[in-house]
Amino acid sequence: MNHSGTLYVVATPIGNLQDITLRALEVLRAVDVIAAEDTRHTSGLLSHFAMQKKLLAVHEHNERKAGEHLVQRLLAGESVALVSDAGTPGISDPGAVVVEMAHAAGVKVVPLPGPSAVVTALSAAGIVAPGFRFHGFLPASGSQRRTDLQSLADCSVTLVFYEAPHRVLASIADMATVLAGERMLTIARELTKTFETIHRLPLAEAVSWLEEDANRQRGEFVLLVEPAPVKEAVPVDMEAERILKLLLSELPLKQAVKLATDITGAKKNALYELALNLKQSQ
Ligand code: SAM
Repeated sequence: MNHSGTLYVVATPIGNLQDITLRALEVLRAVDVIAAEDTRHTSGLLSHFAMQKKLLAVHEHNERKAGEHLVQRLLAGESVALVSDAGTPGISDPGAVVVEMAHAAGVKVVPLPGPSAVVTALSAAGIVAPGFRFHGFLPASGSQRRTDLQSLADCSVTLVFYEAPHRVLASIADMATVLAGERMLTIARELTKTFETIHRLPLAEAVSWLEEDANRQRGEFVLLVEPAPVKEAVPVDMEAERILKLLLSELPLKQAVKLATDITGAKKNALYELALNLKQSQ
């Protein structure tokens, strides 16, 4: 029988302390030890809720070593709560390594849902298109940042980034250059805090908007870019479609497309797209 303790992964507020959940308070009170990204930061949170607990530091520089220690304690039957400085552990924060080690050791992992800046920002962005791609922080180096953005340029879902105040202007400038300037950007700043701002504007206008007032570059940011516009399909005329269908019934797709292009003079890409659609709908 497995007598090991439980690892609770506990989300904590991203600004407004009232956003702590009842369950998080209950678990933080009950566990034997709290593994925290920054013990001083978490002490502040605990004392706000009149709690005093044993804290253990687990940050990006010691996560594996601290994880080994925590797994020992869990296997000995202790219960552990894992928290980061703000939001959900493991989301652009340490946590995943310890969780992975716990699973590998057969320890029960229980997540406690709660605040996370990515979901909070998405809920207020009003982007109707479904789906999103969470990229987290872009690289600090300008050229690497632009390469990352280039690889995301055609992504058909909303892009979500985290950004620090000292890089927000440079990152948005790169987004405006690499992604289409007419795409809408949502700047979600200081969520749940006193100076919370949610501002939507086309990417091409964002740099001058940020420069107009230095306060607009202060604080913590989530940046959301609406999906890339869908590329218009090139129409294929009825005769070219008829010939393509005939050829597809006799030949492999590539050969049929090539021959149909030669015969009809229609655009090869358009015939290729159509051929793929026809195959899929068979
Ligand atoms: N684990 C956290 C979560 O679940 O959202 C994220 C931690 S990550 C180290 C910190 C980044 O999240 C910040 O630099 C900022 O981009 C974003 N962030 C955190 N709190 C925020 C807030 N109140 N408003 C806007 N962005 C925030």
